Order: sequence, then structure tokens, then C-alpha cells
Amino acid sequence: MERPVIAIVVPCYNEQEVLPITLPALLRLLDSMVEEGKISPDSYVLCSNDGSRDSTWELITRFHVADKRIKGISLAHNRGHQNALLAGLMTVKDRCDAAISIDADLQDDPEAIREMVDRFIDGKEIVYGVRSSRDTDTWFKRNSAMAFYKFQKTMGLDTVSNHADFRLMSSRALEMLSHYDEKNLFLRGIIPMIGLDTDVVTYARASRAAGESKYPLSKMLSFSIDGITSFSAKPMRMIFLTGLILLLIDVAVGAYVFISYFFKPALEPGWTSLMLSVWFLGSLILMGIGIVGEYIGKIFIEVKNRPRYEIRDILLD
Ligand code: UDP
Ligand code: MG
Repeated sequence: MERPVIAIVVPCYNEQEVLPITLPALLRLLDSMVEEGKISPDSYVLCSNDGSRDSTWELITRFHVADKRIKGISLAHNRGHQNALLAGLMTVKDRCDAAISIDADLQDDPEAIREMVDRFIDGKEIVYGVRSSRDTDTWFKRNSAMAFYKFQKTMGLDTVSNHADFRLMSSRALEMLSHYDEKNLFLRGIIPMIGLDTDVVTYARASRAAGESKYPLSKMLSFSIDGITSFSAKPMRMIFLTGLILLLIDVAVGAYVFISYFFKPALEPGWTSLMLSVWFLGSLILMGIGIVGEYIGKIFIEVKNRPRYEIRDILLD
């Protein structure tokens, strides 16, 4: 195989603090891999600006003028990490041999890219970056993330544990990814479905090089629920099972009530038990409707078939 052209895709949302650190670091990495004769000198970095409100795009433009290996696209709106990443990947799909996605904040160790490229040269088409330690995350983030993985798994969504969106994909894998038309994209769930030869590279996750996280707990939570409802109908089956269990309990309660009718005519008013069951069943029913509504909402979004993103500016020359 000839030396591959590698594209590093970086989604950027309000990353003006960290880009001046990240982009030179990525260029140095490309330089050193080119020197080692591992990759083609045509390899480059593509920043996908996710409708930033700060001067991220101006920065990317300035970097592009100074070094053409820094390329960029700019989305017309803030469409979220997954869409920004997808826009970048689809842009490089036919312009590289393999693309590596990495966050702008250098939390994922760029040095792991060397190993990913080695695996690619060995014939692997998807290489997942997996965190070996989460020491630098806060206790809360570490444990909440673990709980999410567990929760997702029991709900029928299988992902690669401790893998975020730091991964290498061959252009063929990207082509296959482009066939998944769903609007509500959850890359971590879809990419394992593609198949092909995969491998894993582990690295230590650092803390953000600069700036602050764009993923507060509320976003993480909605991301996790989104992932589950995009991949599995298990929650709806659980509503049915809950109903079934309640029905069985009801048979027992019914027998008790029936027998009491004959043998304890002067029964206590039963206000407490009535109140409790009304509230309990009421909340179960509402939760059930909510879960079904979640799926109907997804159908609604898919049916409208709106574009996932719109690209406003391109710097590719
Ligand atoms: N990001 C994005 N659009 C958004 C939010 C985040 O493109 O709406 C990018 C962000 O610039 C970064 C990556 O997604 O490159 C991960 O975000 P962040 O580091 O804030 O998340 P965390 O690592 O804290 O989960
Ligand atoms: Mg981060």
C-alpha cells in the first residue's frame, strides 16, 4: 500500500481558547508521521466549526492561510457534536484514505493516532480509541459515565465501553456510514453495526487543555437516552412487562378485596392504600406514555426528513 492520506477531523464549538494549542500539536504530529514515512505529506486536519459564537472560525481561517493543511468547514447553525463530526467526516470521505475524529480539547491523546494509523496500515478499517483511565475526570463524571454504559447495555444498546468519538475510519467505512440516513445520529451505536475489521487502541484521557466542557450533565443525560431510544425498543417492552407484573399483583389484591367483602364487612376506610395506588399507577401510566412519546417524537423527526446540517463556508484548497 502507498503511504495513506490521513485526515484528522476536529469538531469545534466555541473553541477559541484551545485551538491555538490543538492545531499546532496536530500539525507537529502529521509532520513527524510524514518524516517517518508512515503517511502521505498530503495528510491534513479538517476543522468542523459547529456554528461557534466566538472567533473560532476566524482562527481556523487564519490557520488555513498560514498552512493549507489546516482546512475547515463551517456549519450554518450549532447542530451539536455528532452532526458537526458527521459533516466533517462526510466532507473528507472521498478526500482521504482514512479519517480520524478527535475532540478539539486534546483530552484524547493525539499520540494514539500513530498507533491507529499503524493498525490501519495493517488492514484494520475501524480503530476505536479507548480510555485506559479516567483519573483526570471528576469522580462524578467518571461514575456517571460508568452508570450510563451499564444502563445503556441493559436497555439494549451495545457500544464500545470507554470509547467516545476518538476513532479511525477507512474511507470505505465512511462510505458505509454515509448509507445510514437516520437524522438522529448516534455514531457510537451505529459504527459497531458497520462491521469490517476493527481494533482498539488504548490511551490515557487527559483533562481539557483549555476552555470548558460543552457537555454539561443535562446534555450527557439526554445524549444517553437518545442513544437508547435510537437503537432499541426495549423500554417499550418494559412498559408492557411492568403492566403484566402489576396485573399479577392485582389478581392477588383482587382476591384479598373479594374475601374481605364477605368476612370483614366493617373494613377500615382504606384511604391510605387507595391514595398510594392512585399515585403509583398514575405515575407509571405517565411514564409509559412518555416513553412511547419519545419514540413517536423520533418518528416525527425522521418523517420530516430535514437536513442534518447546512454548510455555510468551506476552506478546502
Ligand atoms: N462540540 C461541538 N458542538 C457542540 C458541543 C461540542 O462540535 O454543540 C465539540 C467540542 O468543540 C469538542 C467536542 O465536541 O471538540 C467535545 O466537547 P467537550 O470537550 O466540550 O465535551 P466533553 O469532553 O466535556 O464531554
Ligand atoms: Mg472534552
